[in-house]
Amino acid sequence: MTVAPQKPQAPARPASVTDDLLRRLVARVSSDGSRTPWPLTEVYTGEVLVELPQSTPSDIERAFGEARAAQVRWAATPVKQRLEVFKRAHTLLIDNAHRTADLIQVESGKNRRMAIEETCDPPMVMSHYLKRAEKLLAPTKRGGPVPLVSHSTEIRVPKGVVGIIAPWNFPFATGLSDAIPALMAGNAVVVKPDNKTALSPLFGISLLEEAGLPKGLFQVVCGEGPDVGPTLIDNADYIMFTGSSATGRVIGERAGRNLIGCCLELGGKNPMIVLDDVDAEEWVRGALFGVFGNTGQICMHIERIYLPDSRYDELKAAFVAATESLNIGAAYDFGPELGSLVSPDHMRRVQSHVDDAVAKGATVVTGGKPRPDLGPAFFEPTILEGVTTDMECGVIETFGPVVALHRYRTVEEAIALANDTEYGLNASVWGKDLDRAVAIAQRIEAGNVNVNDALATAFASKGTPSGGVKASGVGARHGDQGLLKYTDVQNLAVLKKQVMGPRPGQEYGDYVGSMLSGLKMMRRLGIR
Ligand code: NAD
Repeated sequence: MTVAPQKPQAPARPASVTDDLLRRLVARVSSDGSRTPWPLTEVYTGEVLVELPQSTPSDIERAFGEARAAQVRWAATPVKQRLEVFKRAHTLLIDNAHRTADLIQVESGKNRRMAIEETCDPPMVMSHYLKRAEKLLAPTKRGGPVPLVSHSTEIRVPKGVVGIIAPWNFPFATGLSDAIPALMAGNAVVVKPDNKTALSPLFGISLLEEAGLPKGLFQVVCGEGPDVGPTLIDNADYIMFTGSSATGRVIGERAGRNLIGCCLELGGKNPMIVLDDVDAEEWVRGALFGVFGNTGQICMHIERIYLPDSRYDELKAAFVAATESLNIGAAYDFGPELGSLVSPDHMRRVQSHVDDAVAKGATVVTGGKPRPDLGPAFFEPTILEGVTTDMECGVIETFGPVVALHRYRTVEEAIALANDTEYGLNASVWGKDLDRAVAIAQRIEAGNVNVNDALATAFASKGTPSGGVKASGVGARHGDQGLLKYTDVQNLAVLKKQVMGPRPGQEYGDYVGSMLSGLKMMRRLGIR
């Protein structure tokens, strides 16, 4: 592995991240200041950047109260007018991509390449729903039970105030992108970012307000999940959660008890099946990103690779060589291909997965160690062999730059191994014969399957719903349902003349006879 030219010190903090900006951003958090603030640190140095205010239950209730008041006015604003805000916001978000990436990097430690890619997600989501929202939200007239004299209209009503709970791995994208369709649909939003990574969502919200989003409509509360979660869920009309499967179960239970809907986007243990006709060079490039992109902290990233016996040695050698030449380091420029993990705590979790695997008989092919010389939370890109399901990293999501290589003899065996997991978020199949690869992809139990890519093609296809199955989630983001889930349906039915039931004096049996023949005739005429 070549290491980015060793810097004696961590890189200087980006010039745009001033103390004044940090103070202005955290002032947006709903907090009376009575709780001890959270020391939000710069990952590359471990130094405290700013004290993040924490929200008490009454702060959260106040945020919901303000959001609810703003939502009533927003919902009464015509959809076209609401969408104008997002047209302006689209430009502002792109114009501020570098400043946003600065904040994403200081708080998450990811490399610049990933940070800038992350800034593109909310504008992509906006673009998609700017095209679809008006149509999706327009009242749709449907037929009624009696032709000509009755009709029903499907009316989309905003849920009210949507609570969003976001993780740290894509703080800007998960803090903003899921809020965009909710806001377009006429809702208010209260978001709870992770304490470690609250800055970039706060900045994104300030840009939305600059674009004309009414003040008060998009609130931010901060705190540790178990402290903030219950009050947030109890005040919300819908919950959008992105995070681990363990937390997803807690959130889903509470939402269920409150009889509100929720969308849960959870973890994965994502497999990649490489077929024997694969183009090795293309696959290596795709696998490097799929495994090590965002330092392995992408919910859809690949943690298990199944290689065909006939090409195992060749493919392994190419992948290991490419991994060892990755450029890893701390920099606020586009140099490093790999950045830091989000925190020393998370690095210890990744290390514990590797140590556990080795103790139980796995082999480290490359990597396997922290890199304190690069920063407090750096970990080497790591390839393991001999991983089994009695090892933590054989079954539980590691969420770091660690992958296990497995050998398979038949495609049937590879499919069975890929499906042998409680998760079902993402999978990847590689091969030159597209029909064969697609047929195999359809047999994988996952909400997203990429053919000849690891994850980006599915995630960036904003017109198609993207979610997990099995323990990887409930519901989806993107596609029509990514917006419609934030609405309730009102079935507004109108009867112009009271024609149902027997006419005065008509025998009930005669009425039944005419009703049944009417049903037959409607079926023949294609009237539903
Ligand atoms: P996490 O579940 O620990 O935390 C996610 C968020 O939930 C944080 O804001 C946290 O403060 C909050 N939280 C924690 N406990 C809570 C509780 N009891 N009540 C309310 N909120 C609570 O997850 P994490 O470690 O921050 O994030 C990484 C996980 O997120 C990984 O499992 C990853 O796969 C998953 N993820 C999934 C997707 C997806 O789209 N499926 C996307 C990104 C991340």
